[in-house]
Amino acid sequence: MAGNSEPLTPRAKLAVTAGKAAAAVSRAAGRGSGSVIGGRVALRVDPDLLARLAGHLDVVLVSATNGKTTTTRLLAEALRANGPVVSNALGANMPAGITSALAGGADARYGVIEVDEKYLAGVARDVAPKAIALLNLSRDQLDRAAETRMLAEHWREGLSGTDAIVIANADDPLITWAASSCPTVVWVAAGQEWKDDAWSCPSCGGVLQRPSEDWFCGDCGFRRPAPTWALSGDNVIDPYGVAWPIRLQLPGRANKSNAAVSAAAAAAFGVEPKVALERMYAVQAVAGRYDVVTYLERELRLLLAKNPAGWLETFSLIDGPPTPVILSVNARGADGTDTSWLWDVDYTRLAGHPIYVIGDRKLDLAVRLEVAGLDFRVCADVDEAVRSAPPGRIETIANYTAFQDLRRRVGN
Ligand SMILES: [Zn+2]
Repeated sequence: MAGNSEPLTPRAKLAVTAGKAAAAVSRAAGRGSGSVIGGRVALRVDPDLLARLAGHLDVVLVSATNGKTTTTRLLAEALRANGPVVSNALGANMPAGITSALAGGADARYGVIEVDEKYLAGVARDVAPKAIALLNLSRDQLDRAAETRMLAEHWREGLSGTDAIVIANADDPLITWAASSCPTVVWVAAGQEWKDDAWSCPSCGGVLQRPSEDWFCGDCGFRRPAPTWALSGDNVIDPYGVAWPIRLQLPGRANKSNAAVSAAAAAAFGVEPKVALERMYAVQAVAGRYDVVTYLERELRLLLAKNPAGWLETFSLIDGPPTPVILSVNARGADGTDTSWLWDVDYTRLAGHPIYVIGDRKLDLAVRLEVAGLDFRVCADVDEAVRSAPPGRIETIANYTAFQDLRRRVGN
């Protein structure tokens, strides 16, 4: 439980040491930071380690399909106003990665933890969080579409008895469904741009009515709860009706939504909106996303889009034509191996941009763009694409493993 400052047991200490050793070996072998393998080894030695490491922390968990890494970063920045924070800042968001991150947090007061959607209920059981922030749920790839509703059901059951204050997006019907079993919920009107996964009632399967910003089910009466916090234009409205301006270096409406939820969550820890939002302004890039890098004497902005909702948001961030755009798509394990989701994304929004297509699945993407009636050029790699692009900053949009490839290539 939070507030327990009991030192770690000998077994837990051994687990942390074994995990650090495994991570060091992995790093030495050139396999990244080693945090996941380290966490796995540590959990093998002491299966209760996650609970023990979180014992002295006030923990907040963040989960969603989109925006969880950014929100975790914004919220961590806000809570630092009150004390030291430990966070899985690089997005290792399954139990092993979380364990590894918390092992470095002996002196922290707060734990701000991004959690993969599938592990949320289990991690919440282990670490007894003080708060849980839930942003949105949509399909991640088409081959996982059926899972979205089940995920909401899993959250609903797993979180029903939680002592945590749940900060939930009232504009997302699936999030509302998942959170409405929790005893204490702070509802935030944080918006929902991607509605394709939210037309059927999570409660009864009826058709949701959506007059303007409201939504409700005409069959069973399940409806949008009254929010106490709201994103309104460039402001967050707090429960007293005071508007606080959101100023971020991160682009786009989706990040304003992330900031609104973060401000509401920070308030649950006693951080005033003014202080929280001022601290969020300091965040420039999140795990390399939104970064502008120089490569081959050109400026490239790196944007990650993992799923149809993410692509849609990304298109709203980029500078208008004639800004050149490089698109990169892979279909490896973490991306989902089925690329039929490409057909759910409205690529006509890129009309007028010079478009360059790269990545393992560039031909799938080329077919999609061809059908959308767009002009584009298929390139062998990012170097060829950059050299072909007309002058000006280049917007680069990639899905998960394609983004990682890109960052490695352009040295960021
Ligand atoms: Zn219904």
